[in-house]
Order: sequence, then structure tokens, then C-alpha cells
Amino acid sequence: MYDLIIIGGGPAGLTAAVYAIRKRLNVLLLSKDLGGKTNYRLSLPWIQDYQVIRGLEVVNKFRSELEYLDFARHIEAVEKVSKNNGDFKVTTKGGAELQAKALIVATGTRQVRMDVPGEKEFTMKGLCYSALSYAPLFIDKTTIVIGDDDLALRSAAELSTVAKQVYLVCRNEKILETPAGHKLRNAQNVTILKDREVVEVKGDEYASKLRLKDPAGKVVEYEADGMFVEKALTPNSDIVKDLVKLDERGRIVVDSANRTNVPGIFAAGDVTNNVAEQVLIAVGDGAKAALGAYDYLLPNL
Ligand SMILES: Cc1cc2nc3c(=O)[nH]c(=O)nc-3n(C[C@H](O)[C@H](O)[C@H](O)COP(=O)(O)OP(=O)(O)OC[C@H]3O[C@@H](n4cnc5c(N)ncnc54)[C@H](O)[C@@H]3O)c2cc1C
Repeated sequence: MYDLIIIGGGPAGLTAAVYAIRKRLNVLLLSKDLGGKTNYRLSLPWIQDYQVIRGLEVVNKFRSELEYLDFARHIEAVEKVSKNNGDFKVTTKGGAELQAKALIVATGTRQVRMDVPGEKEFTMKGLCYSALSYAPLFIDKTTIVIGDDDLALRSAAELSTVAKQVYLVCRNEKILETPAGHKLRNAQNVTILKDREVVEVKGDEYASKLRLKDPAGKVVEYEADGMFVEKALTPNSDIVKDLVKLDERGRIVVDSANRTNVPGIFAAGDVTNNVAEQVLIAVGDGAKAALGAYDYLLPNL
């Protein structure tokens, strides 16, 4: 029986694990990988050795610590979490069943992809999934944002403050009627492309052209320095969906101390309803969740 099982090895989970180890808890971090989304690094031809993910040094230090402390980590996906008398049972994909007195869920989110030729090949080579992180790198550049909801509008709006030209490929007429949509429609450097279907991403070493099909079936190629697929993020909360409260977007609802509505279950990082998907926010969340779990466990340690 572990004191604490942490599910997810991104910035939130790694930070929580290091904090919990320093509190001398008997802890296990279970994850599909170590590093989570910090393993993505955008490369662009005009950026040399730019440290694109702020706070990455901290995450890498925590990661090295976990790599060294092999008793405290196990690389495997978690399939299910359930209650087991007063404790919790974590079932892995391989069928192992592990018990813990407390849990931290830090499983992040996943991007919705376009599933078109060239997308995989150029991912993080001029094509990316986080304009909110990289907008400052696109001063005076031409960019394309693809997406139909609020995330795409926010991304296009932020890019429009620095980029020379922003194309927004958006098929949702309704969202363009919102105040943010109106702002974009009136911006000098924003062109909204409605009713277009993305058919292919092209390029050489980096993505440089997006092929779009109009309703008449005509395919037009748009050139850009950077492309952003900004479709809604899906929280990886399925493993606890029957156990803890989720919001309307499937994110785990937490309070200011990262407690869920179930005593003993904490959540941290992008999988929660906390604001902004950023490395440093996930790191802070992981620290809070670990301290919260320690307080929860303390009377029975
Ligand atoms: C392309 C891209 C670029 C970005 N660039 C920046 C940037 O420059 N600066 C910045 O601040 N932020 C950036 N972000 C956002 C930042 O990476 C995230 O906010 C941050 O990684 C969230 O940390 P997390 O620990 O909550 O989740 P994640 O990093 O997503 O980690 C989740 C972890 O959970 C594991 N996991 C998921 N499901 C399971 C399961 N069932 N069983 C076991 N393990 C599981 C995953 O394998 C992973 O290890 C970027 C995001 C993307 C997508």
C-alpha cells in the first residue's frame, strides 16, 4: 500500500512527486512517459536555440530526480481508478492493481488533430498546437490558425498583435458573431477563411504551405511561416470520470488547494479547471497538490 500514487509524469506530476518524496511519503508516480508535453519543442528556421518552454529547466531537474529514483516511478498507462474501502485502487493497462491512501491525478490534456497528410510530418516543425505559448516568436510573420472555437479566436487575436498577417480557418459562423469574433473581423491584418476544409500541410524542412478546399471543390495553397491547430483540448480525465466531479468540458473540478470533491483525491495541471495551460502553472499546481495530500495523510502517517 502506497501513501500516495501520482498519475501523470508531466510538469504537474513530476513536481508533485518530488515534493512528496521530500516529505518522505511512500510514493509512486505512474505515467505513460516522463516530461509530458514539455517533450514537444517547436523548431522554426529563424529561431536558434531558443528556449521556447519557460520553466523547462525546473521540470528537467525534477525529471532527472525521478529518473534516478526508479523505485518511485513506473512507466505504464493507468486504465482505471476506483475506491477500495477507505483507500483507492489504481488499475494499470497491463492489469496490475496498486493501492494508495491518496491520489494525485495530473494526466493533462490531448490536442484534437486535423488528421490530414503532412500534419504528423511537420508537427513542431512550423506546425504547432499552442499559439498562446509561441505568439511572441511570430513578430512580422505570416501565420495560420485552424480551429472553430474560443481557443482558435484567442490564438488568432494574440497572434494578430505581433504578426504581419493572420489567416483564421474557421467553419463556425456562430463564434464569429461574438465580441472576440467581431474584433478579428475588423482587424486589418486578419483574414477569416470560412467554409474551407484543410486538405494538406506541405513544406520542405518546415511546414510552409496549407492547402485548403473551398465549397466549390477548388484547392488553394496559403503560404505561412507558422501554422497553429487550435481545436479544443480534451482533458485526460476518463480514468476518474465516475469518481470525481468534472466540469462541462470534462476537466476535474478542484478548489484552491487542488482538492477534488472526493477526500484523498487531488488533481493538478491542465487536467483541472484551473486557468491557463502553462508549464509554470502546472508546476505550482503539482506542488500545491502534494502539500495538500501530505496534510491529508499526516494524521495517519
Ligand atoms: C505543442 C505545445 C507547446 C507548448 N509550449 C509551451 C511553452 O512554451 N510554455 C509553456 O508554459 N507551456 C507550453 N505548453 C503548455 C504546457 O506544455 C502544458 O501546460 C503543461 O505541460 C501541462 O502540464 P501537465 O503536467 O498538467 O500535463 P502534461 O504535460 O500533458 O502531462 C500529462 C502526463 O500524464 C500522462 N498521462 C496521461 N494519461 C495517462 C494515463 N491514463 N496513465 C498514465 N499516464 C497518463 C502523460 O503521459 C503525461 O506524462 C505547450 C503545450 C503544447 C501542446
